[in-house]
Amino acid sequence: MDITSGRVVTIHYTLKNDASEILDSSAGGDPLAYIQGHGNIVAGLERALEGRKSGERFAVTVAPADGYGQRDPALVQQLPKRALQGAGEITRGMRFQTRGEDGMRVFTVTAISGDMVTLDGNHPLADQNLYFEIEVIEVRAATAEEIEHGHVHGHGGHHH
Ligand code: ZN
Repeated sequence: MDITSGRVVTIHYTLKNDASEILDSSAGGDPLAYIQGHGNIVAGLERALEGRKSGERFAVTVAPADGYGQRDPALVQQLPKRALQGAGEITRGMRFQTRGEDGMRVFTVTAISGDMVTLDGNHPLADQNLYFEIEVIEVRAATAEEIEHGHVHGHGGHHH
């Protein structure tokens, strides 16, 4: 069965950066299951998977525009510490989730200077080329319920 929109795809993946460092991998764990054509994975990878069959292995390079986007300087903000009241002691690397116009966004504390805190809302992989090594494990039709929910049920999916 070919990978096409509305099918449930199970893959093993390894993600590397420009320096060939492994950023993420399903190797040694559960494979990832997703529904093709629903934007559940980065656009460049979803496009590269279209038409593939179970058993296929391939590598694909995804540019930032088809990955996690370009860094947006407007998403870097400085706030006084008191604006983050209730968060306890603020440390570098702390993350805050905020609800904005375009959904949930995660801000990471990247610097602390005196009473000012720098928060960066860019995805940590923004501006990065993504090097995926993929093995297609299984391709099957999605159930009506999975299509309705927009995610995969059963092994590798939701509602365990
Ligand atoms: Zn569901």
